[in-house]
Amino acid sequence: MSLGTDVLALAYLVSAALFILGLKGLTHPSSARRGNSFAISGMVIAVVATLLDGGIHSYGFIIAGIIIGGTIGTVIAMRIEMTAMPQLVALLHSFVGLAAVLVAIGTWLNRDAAGLLNPTLAAELAVGTFIGAVTFTGSLVAFGKLQGLVSGAPLSFSGQHLLNLLLGIAMVGCAIWFWSDYSATPLLLMTAIALLLGILLIIPIGGADMPVVVSMLNSYSGWAAAATGFTLQNNLLIITGALVGFSGAILSFIMCRAMNRSFFSVILGGFGAEESGDESISAAAAERGVKAAAVEDAAFFIENASKIIVIPGYGMAVAQAQHALKELMGVLEDKGITVVFAIHPVAGRMPGHMNVLLAESDIPYENVKEMEEVNPEFSTADVALVVGANDITNPAAKSDSSSPIYGMPILEVSKAAHVFVIKRSLKPGYSGIDNLLYYQDNCSLIFGDAKEMCEALFTELKGGH
Ligand code: NDP
Repeated sequence: MSLGTDVLALAYLVSAALFILGLKGLTHPSSARRGNSFAISGMVIAVVATLLDGGIHSYGFIIAGIIIGGTIGTVIAMRIEMTAMPQLVALLHSFVGLAAVLVAIGTWLNRDAAGLLNPTLAAELAVGTFIGAVTFTGSLVAFGKLQGLVSGAPLSFSGQHLLNLLLGIAMVGCAIWFWSDYSATPLLLMTAIALLLGILLIIPIGGADMPVVVSMLNSYSGWAAAATGFTLQNNLLIITGALVGFSGAILSFIMCRAMNRSFFSVILGGFGAEESGDESISAAAAERGVKAAAVEDAAFFIENASKIIVIPGYGMAVAQAQHALKELMGVLEDKGITVVFAIHPVAGRMPGHMNVLLAESDIPYENVKEMEEVNPEFSTADVALVVGANDITNPAAKSDSSSPIYGMPILEVSKAAHVFVIKRSLKPGYSGIDNLLYYQDNCSLIFGDAKEMCEALFTELKGGH
């Protein structure tokens, strides 16, 4: 069975339009579900149209692939914790990279049967192999760092940049060699060099910058898919690859800007320590007069407030405290207290992390405000309740030019009349630095797990203890 060129082209056009609508929908939480439905429909049309096109010789492998891959994908998607999403995304990108390399090598192996090698295709194969192999190993290293399988500390050695440069030059040399004679040796050499480069480019980058790197690798995987699209002469793959390539690049840029870091300082690495948490600093900090508060103390101030702003962070995600927060919000609104949620663009470990979790617990979008909108409101709030957030509230970003987060925009929580911070210890957040907020007069820490403390606040405020 064959669909005919025009019908196939039309189906691909509809898919491409649906992918674009999907991306548009994902720009706001309220339209994200609809955006996902568009993207899923686009993909279904694309896959069905491709399968019905006459070019397929045997459906056996494809059906087996859909069943095995679909089952694994479904099980992973249902089991994955939100906090483990960045490493899952990194792992999935590695598959795209590997697929690009395999398509390039497969096309080369098939060259005689199809009689198709020409200078243009050779250049496409070289580009596909290069981007695909770098994406493959780079994403695997990013996955290993995020999953804690390899050290999150930046790993650098002298002459690293020179080595990368020499490998890059060797890579270009092999590409020209391959382009001139289409032989196996330069293709294999190119693949090996690109695989090595993927590792070398990612190991010097610290764990704290990994989410930006994942987004950058997302962009690479898009370009790898686009290169594969040229090789397979599949227009939809070219369009989809370009969409992913550009959206990943734009997202990396937005994340860098939100952290006030230049893209090159991320790529050249070195930011972020191995593991946040230095007990000796914590002990010293406690001696320097950080105030601890009991749940009852916070409940007293909250009960007498007319407006409170809640600042969720990575700790809320770890503790899965969003449902407890929703219940807390309910009891406060019953008492006539206005509750606003303040979202920092890089709160948590990926863009939109907090929005997704708050939406999951059905907190209305109108109660959720982004940083620029909410910052002027802190001075009118009686209480700022920080739930498992740290770096995004650190005034050092404004006042201490030697701080690694200096220049990063923050949520100006200290302007609220009273600040309560729920966290388990005095350990620092992701950037590994002490938070000056905790030493301010109007700030007290409630030590404990975010979910348990929010539940305790709820019980206290409901008067049910
Ligand atoms: P942080 O990592 O700064 O702080 C999280 C805090 O949560 C920790 O201090 C920790 O303290 C606390 N915590 C952990 N588990 C729990 C728990 N179960 N209950 C209560 N508290 C808990 O997170 P933020 O969200 O404030 O900031 C995000 C950081 O991630 C920024 O540095 C940002 O640059 C970085 N980042 C974010 C990206 C994004 O796209 N969102 C991308 C790249 C980087 P304790 O251990 O004492 O409990």
